[in-house]
Amino acid sequence: MIKLPKPGEYIDIHTHDARSAANAFIIENLMAHEGRSPVDIPEQACSFGIHPWFLNEKNYSQLINGVNNAAGFPNLLAIGECGFDKLRGPSIELQRKAFEEQISISEAIGKPVVIHCVRAWDELLPEVKRVRPKMPWFVHGFRGNTELAEQLLSKGMYLSFWFDFVIRPEAAHILRSLPNERIFLETDSSDIDIRDIYKKVASDLNLQVDELKSIILENFRRFFKV
Ligand SMILES: [Zn+2]
Repeated sequence: MIKLPKPGEYIDIHTHDARSAANAFIIENLMAHEGRSPVDIPEQACSFGIHPWFLNEKNYSQLINGVNNAAGFPNLLAIGECGFDKLRGPSIELQRKAFEEQISISEAIGKPVVIHCVRAWDELLPEVKRVRPKMPWFVHGFRGNTELAEQLLSKGMYLSFWFDFVIRPEAAHILRSLPNERIFLETDSSDIDIRDIYKKVASDLNLQVDELKSIILENFRRFFKV
């Protein structure tokens, strides 16, 4: 059984770098095209999926096979990051096909989804309406406005904020307007320290860092049903 986050730990819900800060529980994101699998890091909680930037007609089947193979490992906590990107990646049709396939895998194995979505909310929102997933989804790298955030929350999603957005002063407003029980924090592919993100967000929310840690731990347990 893999280690799960403990009280007092920071949770970095999405990172591409396993070098964790001290006292942090991380979910390492593996991308199917990289060729690494959850079996290579048996002690490490991870997510595995097809990042839309690295998908094409030629590698589609191979990458989907990768997700199917990764799905059964106990250290795999979520499918993804997967989703839509209108600035980079293949045709939106191919992105949709890959996304729908990964959502079916998530539903079949009973594990949640990490969403990557850039300028493609008009693709993501119809999907959640159509699928009515039993598994929860969280949008990683979120940097939208309050209205968009509320729309996603109303569909049952959680939000993990883009590291470079959440540390800005103007992020305080949106953080305060959202329910604490639907947020996660992440370092993604940056070398920012998760402790600095917690410190900033705790101060925006008028909380102690320890209080924020407890809230995010509760969110984690609810989201992953652990
Ligand atoms: Zn990422």
